[in-house]
Amino acid sequence: MSKGTLFIVSAPSGAGKTSLLKRLREEMDRLVISVSHTTRPIRPGEVDGRDYHFVSRQVFERMIAEGAFLEYARVFDHYYGTARQPVLDELERGYDVILEIDWQGARQIREKLPECRSIFILPPSREVLEQRLRRRGQDSEETIARRMRDAKAEIAHYDEYDFLVVNDDFDQALSALKSIIVADRLRLSRQREALADLLRQLLA
Ligand code: GDP
Ligand code: ADP
Ligand code: 5GP
Repeated sequence: MSKGTLFIVSAPSGAGKTSLLKRLREEMDRLVISVSHTTRPIRPGEVDGRDYHFVSRQVFERMIAEGAFLEYARVFDHYYGTARQPVLDELERGYDVILEIDWQGARQIREKLPECRSIFILPPSREVLEQRLRRRGQDSEETIARRMRDAKAEIAHYDEYDFLVVNDDFDQALSALKSIIVADRLRLSRQREALADLLRQLLA
């Protein structure tokens, strides 16, 4: 079994998962957010290799054929996928890895790595979700309408997840995510090895 824990975070577009995970990474050590591959066009402000690995459809399909993905799915007419090796390498060196993926990807990961933990982030209301998509200012009206329709389909899968977090107050949601990770790090299976010396001394 790997040393780190694999976390899945899903949410409808605009619920705040990217902003929350960015802050989480800044505030916690031994944590990496996996950078997905995607065929969707790059948005203003995004950086290739940081936000996503932006690749052509041909490259993506070759990677599927080579078995390079731990999971992949079609979301909003584009392919999104998680490359296998970087994730397994980080887990092996004891880092926790977060995948920011949709419910279809989450299902594939649970099949392959049942010891993963999954978190679903909910917006406080449909109205707020729409406002956030609008305020982000990165999508056309047509795309926003499409994302609002798709939000319901994504949220319908909430009960497949281990944890539910509402992103109303940002700092409260952030602290809820931290608690989930901290609690996981305190589990016996992870502490036994880390505290081996202490336990030996206490039991001598
Ligand atoms: P956002 O919803 O505004 O963050 O838009 P994105 O384009 O960043 O993400 C679109 C969808 O693709 C979301 O539902 C993500 O959860 C999903 N997604 C992103 N990366 C991956 C991935 O590597 N695998 C899978 N299965 N889904 C992903
Ligand atoms: P996602 O990655 O889920 O699509 P983003 O992280 O891009 O969502 O957030 C969507 C928008 O909502 C961004 O403009 C972000 O700054 C804003 N936002 C996120 N969380 C909150 C919050 N708790 N309160 C107010 N605005 C938020
Ligand atoms: P966006 O295009 O707005 O960045 O992302 C749209 C959706 O794609 C998000 O809801 C996100 O969760 C999902 N997504 C991003 N990366 C992946 C991925 O690697 N795999 C899967 N299955 N979904 C992804």
